[in-house]
Amino acid sequence: MSPTLKIPTTKLFCLQPEQLEAWATEAINRSLSGQIPAYIPLLVQADKSEFAVQIRAIDGEFMGFGRADKTFPLMSVVKPFVLLYLLCELGETAVFDRVGCEPSELPFNSLTQLQIDKGKPRNPMINSGAIALASLIPGENAIIRCQKLVTWLNQQANSQLFVDELMLDSVNATPNQNNGNLALEMVKSGVIQDAEIALETYNRVCCLSGTVEDLAKLGMLLVNNGDRTISEHCRTVKALMATCGLYQASGRFAVRVGLPTKSGVSGAVLSVIPGKGAIACYSPPLDHEGNSVGGLFLLEQIAKTLRLSVFE
Ligand code: GLN
Repeated sequence: MSPTLKIPTTKLFCLQPEQLEAWATEAINRSLSGQIPAYIPLLVQADKSEFAVQIRAIDGEFMGFGRADKTFPLMSVVKPFVLLYLLCELGETAVFDRVGCEPSELPFNSLTQLQIDKGKPRNPMINSGAIALASLIPGENAIIRCQKLVTWLNQQANSQLFVDELMLDSVNATPNQNNGNLALEMVKSGVIQDAEIALETYNRVCCLSGTVEDLAKLGMLLVNNGDRTISEHCRTVKALMATCGLYQASGRFAVRVGLPTKSGVSGAVLSVIPGKGAIACYSPPLDHEGNSVGGLFLLEQIAKTLRLSVFE
């Protein structure tokens, strides 16, 4: 008999590996209609049909499909974890003085959105919000700040994230004018002091990289944290993932899938199944809103079939 993934909950469920493989194959097919973003030279080199997924349950069991050894940059999937780190280090007031917690309606890098909001980022899941949070990470330079974050995350999650220096070189080789304008707007509004260190830190943390296993383990941080203070912050992070994690698509995805989820421009996606587990996926082609086509398809199949929506 083939192994099954048992997720021990009141509503115990099982997933057959053959089923996961069939969905993943369909996800790869569908992903071919997506686009790989062109603004980071090293990301463009990604293979459109590259695919990896890992599903982890709270008892430590896991099931996967695809390239388990493939490492990729988290990009925006790091944003919930920068938020969690700062909530734990600095507390809610320091964080939410700088960023809001409302969903956005314009693209993740929109300057217009920031200007509508008078220079205070709408939420921590879009670029302006994450740049503002990067400016709050303690440490005298970007390298030290990022090192503190990654050490904390790897300790908490038992993951092996690392800074992909080649990816960082590639990000730095084509300075992102959009992000630069967001930072300057926030200097004007007084949300950040130093645009340069904020951007350097932001770019570096976006290049934190790992496998789908590392990403799923990070997701588990938000699921089963025994520490009471951290678990309060985890609730805040999951709520913001559910309402803002996929930018303008967040509301639609909440209806169709109903799991707190965060995507990144590398094609990484992470969903958290509160109290039960986490699903990490990597599939590079993106839709027009900047979310992984194959990743969102797979999540929808899993969540619908296993009735995982938090709104069930
Ligand atoms: N580093 C990327 C950027 O600033 C992250 C954005 C994303 O993943 N959506 O564009």
